Amino acid sequence: MAELHLRSVQKVYGNGFKAVHGIDLEVAEGEFMVLVGPSGCAKSTTLRMIAGLETISGGEVRIGDRVVNDLVPGKRGIAMVFQNYALYPHMKVRRNLSFGLKLKRKPKPEIERATGEVSGILEIEELLERLPKQLSGGQAQRVALGRALIKHPEVFLFDEPLSNLDAKLRASMRVRITDLHKRLRDEGRPATVVYVTHDQVEAMTMGDRICVMKDGKIMQVADPVTLYERP
Ligand code: ADP
Ligand code: ADP
Repeated sequence: MAELHLRSVQKVYGNGFKAVHGIDLEVAEGEFMVLVGPSGCAKSTTLRMIAGLETISGGEVRIGDRVVNDLVPGKRGIAMVFQNYALYPHMKVRRNLSFGLKLKRKPKPEIERATGEVSGILEIEELLERLPKQLSGGQAQRVALGRALIKHPEVFLFDEPLSNLDAKLRASMRVRITDLHKRLRDEGRPATVVYVTHDQVEAMTMGDRICVMKDGKIMQVADPVTLYERP
């Protein structure tokens, strides 16, 4: 079980600025939660605390039955996809995908099988021998998604993953990500998702529920219909 539970979570930065004011949030196992709100409202800070990329100043982050406050990112059972893809520039796509499993010392046949499976799902088989600089934005983001998927994480964290893509690619990637989420659910390995965006279309079309933040606080958590379509 990998529900995600934030309890009274706070962030005070080194300069004394209080960015997150004791927020509570529950994301159910397999749920797709979208975080929205104006720039500076602490979406990214919140996501980074869940990921372990930013220290938690107060409260508790729980993934499944484990409090992860003091765990390094690699021990949290999460994978993160960033706006700028964050691929290793000197590694071919194949190695970008498999590197995480290599670090975990998985056997070679298993790594090859997983690389084949993930590149099939994301339709990047023909890109495996390329370097990141030889990829378009949409291709790079599919590889980044593949690199997260191959880890079989219980929790996926997305930080504005589509912001660098043009409108047409954004639309197709929206569908790709929601299809993938459904597919994992159907295969019995549901992924709990927290997806940060400032794009209202992404929030409406992708989220099971939407969490609206403002000034480091949560204003509302609701499903898209309730949030956007009721007067
Ligand atoms: P901490 O160690 O508390 O996580 P950081 O190392 O992330 O703090 O940041 C160090 C300093 O850099 C902060 O105290 C702040 O003055 C400044 N800083 C970095 N990013 C930002 C930002 N986005 N807005 C304002 N100040 C920032
Ligand atoms: P969002 O992702 O919603 O745009 P952020 O989480 O990046 O918001 O930032 C939330 C608030 O915290 C902003 O006011 C930002 O300037 C501030 N902030 C972010 N990083 C730092 C830092 N390292 N030091 C101080 N303040 C920061």
